Amino acid sequence: MRGGDFLEALEQKILSEGTVLDGGILKVGSFLNQQLDVDFLIKMGEEVKRIYEGERITKILTIEASGIAVAVAVASVMHKNVVFAKKNKTSNLSGELFSAKVHSFTHGTDYTVTVPKDYLSKDDRVLIIDDFLANGNALNGLIDIVNQAGAKVVGCTCAVEKGFQGGGDELRKAGYRVESLAVIEKMSAECIEFRR
Ligand code: 5GP
Repeated sequence: MRGGDFLEALEQKILSEGTVLDGGILKVGSFLNQQLDVDFLIKMGEEVKRIYEGERITKILTIEASGIAVAVAVASVMHKNVVFAKKNKTSNLSGELFSAKVHSFTHGTDYTVTVPKDYLSKDDRVLIIDDFLANGNALNGLIDIVNQAGAKVVGCTCAVEKGFQGGGDELRKAGYRVESLAVIEKMSAECIEFRR
């Protein structure tokens, strides 16, 4: 369950350091997407560990590049390995890879994400991590890869969910446990409102 001091600190950081760009993009380069506030990310990892207390998780899966920092922070407190899906421009892939097609919200193009078959197996119980959740395309691609491996998706957590884009709620409706940290209900250049 979300809540508590960390959520409040994250919301405050978004309000004080975030900038809303045209096209519904939130820029948080000062701590998450360019400069990394490592102490803060470790606190984020501790919060994610708290949320999934009691769940058996064997691996953390994310997508390059901006998911990696959050995933490593979570992994460092959970003491699990991180696997990150690589983004490939071509879909000319060998049989040694799990792959899924993803539409990029920020670039407006399609790309293929891949994970070597060696790094996920049917015995894995996977926590999926990313920086942002918008329409849910990146998470759907990662879920597809976990399913191809025959592994189990324990949950999906993003540092920031833009709730108004609906991707998170679609995944919840489909039965996935989606535990984003800050959930933005509304945003404009003047104002950001969070889901309560
Ligand atoms: P989705 O696939 O859910 O539509 O979008 C999620 C992906 O797009 C994330 O991996 C994230 O990197 C990027 N993204 C989507 N919206 C934003 C945003 O508002 N700000 C930033 N920095 N990245 C975003």
